[in-house]
Amino acid sequence: MSPTSPPASPPTTVEATVDAAVVGAGFSGLYAVHRLHDLGLSVRAFEAGGGVGGTWYWNRYPGARCDIESVYYSYSFDRELTAEWQWSERYAAQPEILRYLEHVADRFDLRRHFTFDTRVTGAAFDETTGRWRVETDGGEVVSARHLVLGVGLLSQRALPDIEGIGDFAGEIHHTGAWPHQAVDFTGRRVGVIGTGSTGIQAIPLIARQAEHLTVFQRTPNFSLPARNGSPDPEKSRRRIDEFDAVTEQLRTSSYGILLDPPTRSALEVSAEERRSTYEARWAEGTLTGILQAYNDMVRNQEANDTAADFIRERIREIVADPQVADDLCPRGYAYGTKRPCLDSGYYATYNRDDVELVNLRRTPIERITGDAVVTSDREHPVDALVLATGYDAQTGPLLALDPVGRGGRRLSAHWEQGARSYLGLTVAGFPNLYTICGPGSPSALSNAVVSIEQHVEWTADLIVHLADRGLTTAEATDVAEKEWSAHVQEVASYTLYPQTDSWLMGANIPGKPRVFLPYIGGVGAYRAHCDQVAAEGYAGFELA
Ligand code: NAP
Repeated sequence: MSPTSPPASPPTTVEATVDAAVVGAGFSGLYAVHRLHDLGLSVRAFEAGGGVGGTWYWNRYPGARCDIESVYYSYSFDRELTAEWQWSERYAAQPEILRYLEHVADRFDLRRHFTFDTRVTGAAFDETTGRWRVETDGGEVVSARHLVLGVGLLSQRALPDIEGIGDFAGEIHHTGAWPHQAVDFTGRRVGVIGTGSTGIQAIPLIARQAEHLTVFQRTPNFSLPARNGSPDPEKSRRRIDEFDAVTEQLRTSSYGILLDPPTRSALEVSAEERRSTYEARWAEGTLTGILQAYNDMVRNQEANDTAADFIRERIREIVADPQVADDLCPRGYAYGTKRPCLDSGYYATYNRDDVELVNLRRTPIERITGDAVVTSDREHPVDALVLATGYDAQTGPLLALDPVGRGGRRLSAHWEQGARSYLGLTVAGFPNLYTICGPGSPSALSNAVVSIEQHVEWTADLIVHLADRGLTTAEATDVAEKEWSAHVQEVASYTLYPQTDSWLMGANIPGKPRVFLPYIGGVGAYRAHCDQVAAEGYAGFELA
């Protein structure tokens, strides 16, 4: 400190006592605040970003849009809200989804409960009072009976550990922390690292703007054309005119989307029939069209191969250079076991003269210098770098907060051998803590909005159940947590998912314990189970 600097002032501590603290202002946090406030609870909420939106606040990269049709990727809790909002595209882009969430915040007057630009830095359960002590980087301390974490499942960014990356002199952005001002790549040489859902959305748009684009691909992904355009008027009409029926269908479906569940194996139909089914579904433009064509696609490698072969054929058809096409063809893992992608012109982008694909399996990145990415064979000069390198999914945002439960035990200690939870929503030893979209919930493998509504409503019902009976805490038992966590892994073990290195398995983060993170038993089945738990007086919980 220089002699003239003012002395550092201690953080101002404002003690507030509320029924519930909520963290996050995305789809989860907004609805949690709305629901809990509506039930008459006092609520304080915090959001690290400067406004509402969560994922859709941070992910402003070119091409960011939902890959579940907007007519379903939106709240169902209020018919009027649904009726008054018109989506302009089948798959809305980030600015429109952000506007929707801002509209929701205004319509239900939710902003007044939030403190923005404020990160929750710690949360500890006080066993003597049965309350959570929640601390923020603004120096605020809140005492809350219940703590609802709506911190997102894909919000903890994974930055690549590449030698020299800190020396890069040009502009560098992770897609999940994109600047609010549009980034102009005109006349610049851009490098994109990562070809998951994000990279696949961003690459075609960056290619159109940049002078030259180099894509650094470690693992190719399977992507289907989105065939984006205007929303289907019939679906939009039905969503409003048959609001209750459609909402019920979404809630009881397998993935929180409308589809006719497949009844046949891919192997019990002729090759011709299979092909015409895949062709129709390739033309349809949905994330799960081909994956849901037959009932054994993620359970039987041979069935899966039929779809994977079909997609590889399409890639070879679209991409002119046979070597580039070959490099873009995913191999070595089953289609769908890395989350599939939906794109707008992704593969055709590689037919441009100003776009180059670097296959990192052949020539790995060795280091990054001030103005280049150096692979094992040569230097790739770049003026700007885009890191589409993903997230420490599902557990990362919760562990960043690392709540302290009973006996001073941290969540990071509890999850040292891998995430475990009861219903994906609660953790043994952490009373009154609710992890919306937590590991062990179907969120990551579903239409997240449908799952979020179920998580929030179920949590709110539990809180009301306690209050109505003069009880103060609900805590998952060790047995219930153990059984649910075993069930989550068991259901996954019937599929091909655990064999693939993906973020769903925690495999993208060095040292992360390898467990299957989401619950794959289906949105509807999960909902029915949660309802059963509630009907039995919250079986698996100790209510005190
Ligand atoms: P991701 O699927 O984890 O993909 C990250 C990519 O970066 C992978 O290709 C990965 O390669 C690569 N990568 C990571 N570290 C690298 C390194 N050091 N060197 C080279 N390559 C590296 O992440 P994401 O694309 O951000 O998507 C995450 C999830 O967000 C999606 O699965 C989806 O659920 C969601 N999302 C949804 C939408 C939507 O349309 N609604 C859009 C974007 C994202 P490896 O595969 O070899 O590890």
